[in-house]
Amino acid sequence: SVRQELLLPDLAAMEAWGAQIAQNLRAGDVVALEGGLGAGKTTLARAIIRAMGHEGEVPSPSFAIIEVYDALPLPLVHADFYRLSHPAEAEELGLEDYRAGGVLLAEWPTHAGGFAHEAGCLSITLEFMEDGRRAIVEAGEDWLGRLPCL
Ligand code: ADP
Ligand code: MG
Repeated sequence: SVRQELLLPDLAAMEAWGAQIAQNLRAGDVVALEGGLGAGKTTLARAIIRAMGHEGEVPSPSFAIIEVYDALPLPLVHADFYRLSHPAEAEELGLEDYRAGGVLLAEWPTHAGGFAHEAGCLSITLEFMEDGRRAIVEAGEDWLGRLPCL
């Protein structure tokens, strides 16, 4: 796998990076969004979902755990696994059904067991910087060459 760092100084940079990811998504992919509270995981997921063509609100899934966007050309599920107390609970949510033929955007992926072992996983860890955020990107083999930074 490949590891890259990039700087996301403001919300505009977040939206541009989200749009770049959206353009390159394929069925079966996972975008694993790591980083502490307020790091920007939902902000980046929102940028991706909007760039995929969703025009309505993009609520944080922190309470519902899963938000489904199945009217998009490439169906998408946005999850926040923070409140899971055991990875097995991810299966009880019907995660595999939601993922079939589509894309998973996962906040707190480790609470669901983690996805980094999957070839289609793009892991993004967001960190606070003095100005904006830094993203550490680790790409599974399916992602190599798909993004300008990889
Ligand atoms: P998380 O889902 O990781 O808890 P959120 O995306 O909900 O975080 O919130 C992050 C906050 O930080 C939001 O208020 C957002 O406007 C802000 N933010 C996100 N990305 C950036 C950035 N690149 N630069 C500056 N502020 C950002
Ligand atoms: Mg969030």
